Amino acid sequence: MDTSVGLELWVKEIHQNTTGLSFKVEKTLFSGQSRFQKVDIVQTYGHGIMLLNDGIIMLSERDEFIYHEMIAHVPLFVHPSPKQVLVIGGGDGGTVREIMKHPGVERVVMVEIDELVVNACRTHLSSVSCEMDNPRVELCIEDGTEYVDNTQEIFDVVIVDSTDPVGPGAVLFSRPFYEKISAILGPDGIMITQAESPFYDHDIQRTMLLNQRPFFKKLQLYLFSTLTYPGGLWSFGYASKGICPIGDFDPDRVETSDISTRYYNPKIHIAAFALPNFVSENLEDILDPIVIPFQNAQIKK
Ligand code: SAM
Repeated sequence: MDTSVGLELWVKEIHQNTTGLSFKVEKTLFSGQSRFQKVDIVQTYGHGIMLLNDGIIMLSERDEFIYHEMIAHVPLFVHPSPKQVLVIGGGDGGTVREIMKHPGVERVVMVEIDELVVNACRTHLSSVSCEMDNPRVELCIEDGTEYVDNTQEIFDVVIVDSTDPVGPGAVLFSRPFYEKISAILGPDGIMITQAESPFYDHDIQRTMLLNQRPFFKKLQLYLFSTLTYPGGLWSFGYASKGICPIGDFDPDRVETSDISTRYYNPKIHIAAFALPNFVSENLEDILDPIVIPFQNAQIKK
């Protein structure tokens, strides 16, 4: 009989006091407190390295590619010629890493409020932060709302890679913020927003989309799987000045690009906008109908 007593460490994220996610931890790599949040980076047994802000799991090395490919490639393959991209939040660098795969993108401005997240990920999560030193990337340590209030620049794509709508992330779900973003987007401009869980957060989704509605011609929601967020199904908001994520999407552009992805492909791009009834019923008065023009198109990948 084995009588040895071993201490097991687990990361446990409790969601809405009713459900939880847990991952077995091998060791803590970093733990720090900024004036905005607590930042922890841990090595897990099953999911590689994991980033947590205020105890909420931001990403794991095992599945972060799904989130970051879907937040970046959907708008970049729909916009006709994305050159100037703004990322708000996203301090881990995963979104920037995916954007940098697009050779036509000339410049990415990343505005992250918390330098501690950026520095901790640079040191302990290099598989995610690996493009942060790319000369096409400009890092601003600033509140995203202040940046959009003050910038004179126009962007092709704005990606709001935010935390949940609590603490410093709350303003990134507000109406004045979306109004400012629509003002700094070019005529073909697209904004993507982290849009929470279709299962648990339908009220947040409604409020977020209602706040965007006055400033954008097209509003959609699209879905992807995640292993590290509650419920396993997550969403992004798609808002544009007129470009349609399906009707204006050319699968050939993806197929003839040299961009390598592990989750994103043309079929996933199209399918992600198909919403289950429980999601679309909650949002049908806010979202635009999807137009599907592909009846005879052949998509190889
Ligand atoms: N993928 C993650 C998720 O949804 O759980 C979020 C990625 S990223 C780590 C989110 C970042 O947004 C955090 O590093 C946080 O510091 C940053 N953030 C929160 N509020 C912000 C604000 N007002 N301006 C800029 N960045 C902000």
